[in-house]
Parts: sequence; structure tokens; C-alpha cells
Amino acid sequence: MRRCAILRGKEDNLMKDLKETALSFEKLGKKHGVSRQATHAFCKSEGIKRPVRPKGHQTGECRLRQKLIEISKRRHSEFISTPTIVKKIGESRKKCVCHLRRLREKGLVDEKFGRLLSRRVEKAYAIYFTKSLSMRTAGRKVGLKNFPAIIRRHRELGWNVPPSLYGKWGRRRIQS
Ligand SMILES: [Zn+2]
Repeated sequence: MRRCAILRGKEDNLMKDLKETALSFEKLGKKHGVSRQATHAFCKSEGIKRPVRPKGHQTGECRLRQKLIEISKRRHSEFISTPTIVKKIGESRKKCVCHLRRLREKGLVDEKFGRLLSRRVEKAYAIYFTKSLSMRTAGRKVGLKNFPAIIRRHRELGWNVPPSLYGKWGRRRIQS
């Protein structure tokens, strides 16, 4: 049989790894020089019960981490506040913040992602991005008096705050 030929001499080690590690069939296959399919077939034919794969980083498949990266790719993602990110992820704040820090260090998310702490500022930005209002008015809508100063500060820090829709329209009006 072909499978036996491929696996000859490797069965014991492969079986040990299948029983004791949570590595994927693909990774185990690579390690033992057999295909993913052969590894899977062997596991099944031997009736091996695989350990539950941990959510940790060893496997490179941390769900939290992937979700964070996904959110960070959205438009204006630096303007999503940390509380909102935590809510979207559905894990503890501590866990999320820890992952965010690590992802930033590794350059897997933008340096600015997950830095905004205030939900209120986030709301003000959401209004500012979608409505034709001045910075001041957008801030006042959520009870923020110093929103223009916050925007100024963010711009100084390199945040890509687009010009206000209000300003654009105002300029156009002047031109026409
Ligand atoms: Zn993780």
C-alpha cells in the first residue's frame, strides 16, 4: 500500500506527535516529510484522538489576534475607540490591550490603532466624518467642548484626520 510506503518508519513518531501536540496536519506532515492528506488519513485509520488546539500563539492561529488585524484594516480604524474594539472582540479588556500592544510592536497593525480611549471622542469623529458640521459643532453634539483641540493634537501626532465636510462645502460655495 502506498500510504504505508510513505509512512514506513515514521509511524511511531508521527503517532506520538498526533497524540501529544496540537499542530495542524499540514505542519506535522511537513515535519515528518509526508503530505497533509496522508497525515490526516493515518490519524483517522489509527483512531487517534487529537488534543484540543490551544488558542495561544504557538499555532499562529489566535482568533483574537486575527480579529484585531481585521478591524484594523477598516477605513478610519484609528478612530475606533478601545472600548468599542473590546466590545467587538468579546474578550476581556486586559487580553485585548495586551494583544494590541504586541501587534503594534510587531508592526502588524498601525501604530495608531487602539490608541483612542474615549468613546465620546470616537462618536464625535463619527459625526465629523459623516455630517457636514464644523469640528466644534460635531464635538458639541456629544458634549465635547474641546474637540477642535483634540483634532489638532491628533493631527500633530500624525493621525490622518480628513478635512471637514463642512469646510469642503463652504469652500465650494465661495468658488461658485
Ligand atoms: Zn492570542
